[in-house]
Amino acid sequence: MNEKRNESICPNPTLNAFDNALSQFDSAAEVLNLKPNQVAVIKQPRRVTEVKLPVRMDDSSIEVFTGYRVQHNIARGPAKGGIRFHPDVNMDEVKALAFWMTFKCALVNVPFGGGKGGVVCDPSKLSLGELERLSRRYFAEMIDLFGPDQDIPAPDVGTNQQVMCWFMDTYSMHHHSFLPAVVTGKPLDLGGSVGRQAATAQGVLYTTQAALEHLGISMKDARVAIQGFGNVGSFSAELFSEAGAKIVAISDVSGAYVNSKGINVKHALEYLAKEHSLAGYDSSGAAEKLDVANQLLELDVDILIPAALENQITSENAGRIKAKVISEGANGPVIPAADRILNEKGVFVIPDILCNAGGVTVSYLEWVQNRSGYYWTENDVREDLSRMMQDSFREVLATSQRYRVSMRVAAFIVAIQRVVRASEMRGLYA
Ligand code: NAD
Repeated sequence: MNEKRNESICPNPTLNAFDNALSQFDSAAEVLNLKPNQVAVIKQPRRVTEVKLPVRMDDSSIEVFTGYRVQHNIARGPAKGGIRFHPDVNMDEVKALAFWMTFKCALVNVPFGGGKGGVVCDPSKLSLGELERLSRRYFAEMIDLFGPDQDIPAPDVGTNQQVMCWFMDTYSMHHHSFLPAVVTGKPLDLGGSVGRQAATAQGVLYTTQAALEHLGISMKDARVAIQGFGNVGSFSAELFSEAGAKIVAISDVSGAYVNSKGINVKHALEYLAKEHSLAGYDSSGAAEKLDVANQLLELDVDILIPAALENQITSENAGRIKAKVISEGANGPVIPAADRILNEKGVFVIPDILCNAGGVTVSYLEWVQNRSGYYWTENDVREDLSRMMQDSFREVLATSQRYRVSMRVAAFIVAIQRVVRASEMRGLYA
């Protein structure tokens, strides 16, 4: 994410993301006929850590924040996954996000396990100094968990390149060495990779292009609605528009804005850069504001890209979705009950662990570059990303055809098999 993208996110609190994640696992495990021992070893998180973080605020008071890190599975490599700073962060959400990382990394075949972290805070209400002290305290408190071969964080909602720099510096100072490979999503000046900022959206584009080709739909003038205008949403708007699609609706926490003739994405990005939000975008005359923001999800479009929150498409609204393709930029935007309805309607859902895996794929390339000390060109990165996303898409599609299951179940089938194989070959220590 970048600086303009620290907006408030409030997932539907009545839905437990971890329960949803486990139910997705069960659907695939049933097809694979997994043995109870195999399920027991890989389904639940391996390590769950909660810390209290006292931070001196600018007015000299001390505030105690709560932080989490979950390492879901490390059979295939070090834990990998972002750190979210948000008021609604809770342990179940972090467990779900770590779970998805395990299977996302396995699916795109990068040598990582899954992890995720979070701090319950509202970064938009902290001064830069308070944010730095909180970030450093979080990393210092869990320093023994992290490391280039142990657990490698990255940005997520509410954190950005600056926060990654503080994490990296805290770790490097502690170890008396320059150790950039301990986090990814860093700026270019400190060992970041070209192409990392747009990588998730780039992967959303590659997988959507592959889906459209499979379905015989043209990208040219395809109508697209995007929920969320942060890192994933705003770069998706830019890339899809460059690819010839027509972005007819965008939204952020301030509301949803539509223009059936097509939103001028460059103008919307300039507006966001200036105002730090889309609030008031309708009064510029560029779009109309929807009365109810979630109506964006039900617009008559070809492609819907949820790129903000978990639990957005539920059994309540799934029946009204008109999109032909849903490209899950966000993690967990469609709950299992809604999946069933969408499948019956014939909506082609590109599941999150495939669709938004471009971010972790380029994070992997960043980690490789940090460890070799040799930095690639944008072309090198883009070629690898494109190949890895397209290979993964093809494999998931073939699996879905072979087992006659949805793309989501197929994605889990491919990923679970890889994690099971690694776990069994390693065996149990002690
Ligand atoms: P971000 O903080 O940069 O952006 C989130 C956007 O969602 C903001 O525009 C915010 O205003 C908007 N939003 C908040 N509440 C909303 C609401 N009720 N309705 C509509 N929009 C709302 O976060 P991000 O990094 O873009 O992440 C978005 C999603 O993508 C998350 O689920 C995240 O886990 C997932 N994801 C991110 C990456 C990455 O590389 N950044 C990679 C994979 C998955």
